[in-house]
Amino acid sequence: MIRRPHKVMRPRTEMRAAPPPPSPRPRGLLVVHASELATLRGPRARARGKEEMRELSILQDGAVYIEDGRVREVGDTRDVLRVRGDVKDVIDATGKVVLPGFVDAHTHAAFAGSRHGELAWKAEGLSYQEIAARGGGILHTVRETRSASREALVAATRKRLDGMLRFGTTTAEVKSGYGLTTESELAMLGAIDELAAAHPMGLVSTFLGAHAVPPEFEGRADAYADLVASEMIPAASTRTGARFCDVWVEAGYFTADQARRILAAAKAHGLDAKVHADELSDSGGAALAAEVGAVSADHLLHASEAGLRAMAEAGVVGVLLPATSLAANLPFAEARRIISAGVPVALGTDLSPGSWNESMQVALALATHGLGMYPEEAVTAATVNAAFAVGRGKEVGTLEPGKAGDLLVLDADSVGHLGYRIGGNLVEKVVKSGRVVVDRAPLR
Ligand SMILES: [Zn+2]
Repeated sequence: MIRRPHKVMRPRTEMRAAPPPPSPRPRGLLVVHASELATLRGPRARARGKEEMRELSILQDGAVYIEDGRVREVGDTRDVLRVRGDVKDVIDATGKVVLPGFVDAHTHAAFAGSRHGELAWKAEGLSYQEIAARGGGILHTVRETRSASREALVAATRKRLDGMLRFGTTTAEVKSGYGLTTESELAMLGAIDELAAAHPMGLVSTFLGAHAVPPEFEGRADAYADLVASEMIPAASTRTGARFCDVWVEAGYFTADQARRILAAAKAHGLDAKVHADELSDSGGAALAAEVGAVSADHLLHASEAGLRAMAEAGVVGVLLPATSLAANLPFAEARRIISAGVPVALGTDLSPGSWNESMQVALALATHGLGMYPEEAVTAATVNAAFAVGRGKEVGTLEPGKAGDLLVLDADSVGHLGYRIGGNLVEKVVKSGRVVVDRAPLR
């Protein structure tokens, strides 16, 4: 599918001049002289675990050639120039890092409204559950999203995707889960589909009808779980582009048994499983994810040893979301324990109204400073492992021939600046499918 660029993403030179006439094939793009080209070359069919997570396969003075949206050559600049020296569209990355575009493995980027008002309650020391009991939290956003028009939801979400793209995210998972009726969940998934077709970012859509029990079903979680399984899943799987089904397994949300029923129905309708697991307590989410063959189990703040071992054996990716710990005043996940257990770890922003972080660079910085991850592990977790966590590992996440031409040029000479710098934006250029979609040339 040809993705049209959003207007603000055009490079400056194109904004000044009249747009070039459409060409039948995208021109080839050559990136040369990267001081460090982190290719993340490695096993092609699975996420990386343990020591593999620290291997970024860095080439010095590296070059990448992209044609028709796909990586064709990767190697030493001299070698690539020998065969591709006639390419006209060239980015000189002298003194800069080049690496695959970030994959954000977990977002709730589609929502209406805001919950900035809850910061005062946080300052008063209220917990996540106490804020929910006062009418805040997910159900506040459900009220705002249900009453928003499709146009308003798309416009608000598009703005956040633009922000994510400027921080280097080229592929992201986006969940529903603020509708909680069949009609409003379908509307959310429809909005995500609309943006998947129109926005430069690659989107992976997840149905999260089991995000919370809606007020109409208060005290009747079982009946709501039945509605999710029997009505919402068949509709979402046939009428939208949803690829995954996710469930929040937690006291006050959904039990492991209810999640099992929902995820079995999802599987029968061709939706693969994801689980919000063990965020506020050990609720058996990690073990459930392994049992049902989920692609990922996310959060894992309180995951048991047995649950982590089961995940490692089943090849379930652990998605860690450190910005949520910051925003919700929760402990950080124990990444060292999780990686030692053999679980391949990925990262996500968990962009949502409760932890509004659009930057994977912030997730990387919190992973190194809060989760105890090595910078190289964080880079692997934000690229190739995140790609496997959203079912796109064979398409994106590394720079190898045949993969999507999605890359970042960083205004830094060592990849070690990722995870080290807190805040700011190191991204100078974002290339998606071989096209420059963000160009932040220095202001001088
Ligand atoms: Zn989430």
